[in-house]
Amino acid sequence: MDPATCVLAKFGEITLKGRNQRWFENTLIRNMRRALGGRRIDIRRRGGFLIVSAPHLGPEELTRRLQQVMGLSVVQPAVRVPFTPEAAAEAAIDLLRDHKEQSPTFAVRVRRRGKTFPLTSDQLAAYIGARVCREFGWTVDLRNPQLPVVVEVDPTEIFVSVDRLPGQGGLPVGCTGRALVLLSGGYDSPVAAYRSMRRGLQCDYVHFTGAPYTDPASTYKAYALAFQLARYQPRARLHVVPIGRAQKALATAGSGPLQTVAHRRLYLRVAERLARRHNNQVLVTGDSLGQVASQTLANLVATDDAAELPVLRPLIGWDKQEIIAEARRIGTCDISTLPDEDCCRLFTPPEVSTRATPAELVEVEARADVDALVAESLAQSYSIVVAPGTGQRSPTEALGLIG
Ligand code: ATP
Ligand code: MG
Repeated sequence: MDPATCVLAKFGEITLKGRNQRWFENTLIRNMRRALGGRRIDIRRRGGFLIVSAPHLGPEELTRRLQQVMGLSVVQPAVRVPFTPEAAAEAAIDLLRDHKEQSPTFAVRVRRRGKTFPLTSDQLAAYIGARVCREFGWTVDLRNPQLPVVVEVDPTEIFVSVDRLPGQGGLPVGCTGRALVLLSGGYDSPVAAYRSMRRGLQCDYVHFTGAPYTDPASTYKAYALAFQLARYQPRARLHVVPIGRAQKALATAGSGPLQTVAHRRLYLRVAERLARRHNNQVLVTGDSLGQVASQTLANLVATDDAAELPVLRPLIGWDKQEIIAEARRIGTCDISTLPDEDCCRLFTPPEVSTRATPAELVEVEARADVDALVAESLAQSYSIVVAPGTGQRSPTEALGLIG
């Protein structure tokens, strides 16, 4: 039998979940299956971790996809070998050959399930350790090895693994609820979406465009961002709402320095309606306290006053530089950098109030007939399902936006 590739995947925070643990695990396993695609996926539970094989994927692709699934803390490429000490030792030596240059200290850690294997765990560890010493001349360090070799002995098979790669951590998407993320083309909101998913929220998106007063670039960016975020959640709905006319009506009604906050309140009102229609329990934005004039504490409070649903702001305490570094890490930065005509900058007055109050905003909104503006904007909105796994092409690829 040829060594078959598989992966040992370790649970993240799920292990803290007491009575609900089984349900969290089932959600995680369902998400893993979706991320891997294909029919012949084998996922076995082994205490705090899972053994995964997917014959339709090569070892690197299998590892890469599992590294993007929320809720796994460690992902270890492994090989499955026949049920003999010799096969286990040979597999370990093979895997360790890549580390020959460094001459690391090492230790063999064996876990055994069932009593069918002829050697005890300690005997097998000692046997493999001796073979490795003979082959490479490395030193054993049981307490703090540079290279721990993991050997899992199942009732009929053995799994051997050396490399430990980081997973995303967090909780499985879908196990804490459903959110609607206000997704602009900037750096912040995609990171806010990612951080929400990482805490188990299943996310949909709403993007506001300045149409008919702006070109479609911002919509392409929102679509491209949603596409990129599909690495972490394979399927999501993206609502696109042309909001230019409604914003113009607010300007005409004399919103003056309140204009920016009036826009944000309009976004929340429309988002709330969409959220209720599609069973999203909370709204999420990329606001960070004090980042720009619209994000002073008074303005955030005045903005929230327009919505009944709670508004989560995962980046409230983040610096811009931290947000951009995270955007780079999760793969949204290059898209956010692309130029677009943002609807936020439409009709902005020279001066932005940093202390808007709900009372004065309500007055402007009454003059502009905000309920009618919300209804008109919703009537012009449309929804796209973003699901790259179904063969949808990436917009950045399709449009050649990024080399
Ligand atoms: P930037 O990275 O430029 O700050 P941003 O997306 O954070 O981009 P802000 O002006 O700071 O833009 O807006 C604060 C939040 O309001 C955003 O994070 C986003 O959640 C929401 N928002 C702003 N503009 C839009 C838009 N056009 N469509 C959807 N949501 C938006
Ligand atoms: Mg921002």
